[in-house]
Amino acid sequence: MEKCTCGTTVQGGTYCCCNCGLQIDVKEGDTLPPCPRCTNQTFVKETAENQETYAEKRREYEKNN
Ligand SMILES: [Zn+2]
Repeated sequence: MEKCTCGTTVQGGTYCCCNCGLQIDVKEGDTLPPCPRCTNQTFVKETAENQETYAEKRREYEKNN
């Protein structure tokens, strides 16, 4: 899965933080912000295949923080 770095212009959709799994909704042509929760700078576009992986990451992060 291709990673997107904050500051790049992306396709619209839901992106998940690679570190904490936080979901952010981005409109077509917007630039990705750094993660508002953990300041990580890489995201992956959420898909049917990876959404459970990132849901698990969110639960882990929320448990530990
Ligand atoms: Zn994050």
